[in-house]
Amino acid sequence: MKERTIGLLGLQGAIEEHEASIKEAGTRLGIEINIRHVLLPEDLDGLDGIIMPGGESTAMIKQGTKSGLLPALRKRLADGFPAFGTCAGAILLAKHVKRDAKSEIREGAFPVIDMTILRNGYGRQKDSFSVPLHIAKVGTDLNAVFIRAPIIEEIHPEVDVLATFDGHPVIVQKDNVLASTFHPELSGNPDVHSYFLKLVG
Ligand code: GLN
Repeated sequence: MKERTIGLLGLQGAIEEHEASIKEAGTRLGIEINIRHVLLPEDLDGLDGIIMPGGESTAMIKQGTKSGLLPALRKRLADGFPAFGTCAGAILLAKHVKRDAKSEIREGAFPVIDMTILRNGYGRQKDSFSVPLHIAKVGTDLNAVFIRAPIIEEIHPEVDVLATFDGHPVIVQKDNVLASTFHPELSGNPDVHSYFLKLVG
């Protein structure tokens, strides 16, 4: 049986749902999944891909800088390492990040997807919500859960937009890197994780 070791960036937040989703995706595809929680640079050794979960992107950056994981992972990603970022994870993968509507643009922690992302873009009254979403390229329909989600405001034409909501891309792909502003791991549907596993190869 094919085996893959998938890292879960364990800097913060709920990662159990990602673990369950990627394992179920592996079962469906006939791939045995080993999970590794990634906290230190050496945790990257031998990984086939990494999932960056939601949380608070600023806290993740702080902790990752302190441990030395951030520069190590940045280098791996620049060399074409497969990654899947959800919500705060998508913020980490964006080339351009805006803290709020008026703030200036900063470079993301792992600037591999050429897009401008606005943190907490849906504002207070819509802090959390869910919408039905069709993702043709993934071949799925799911309930997309947004939790203090960012908004992708601009995107380079060479980035694939897999689905939009309210006029904005909500799941995008550049080569073997996938980013969603919502939480597929909370939908109870592992199709997006299966899609990522196929990118891992
Ligand atoms: N609002 C968070 C941030 O800006 C992201 C929220 C999430 O990951 N659910 O980092």
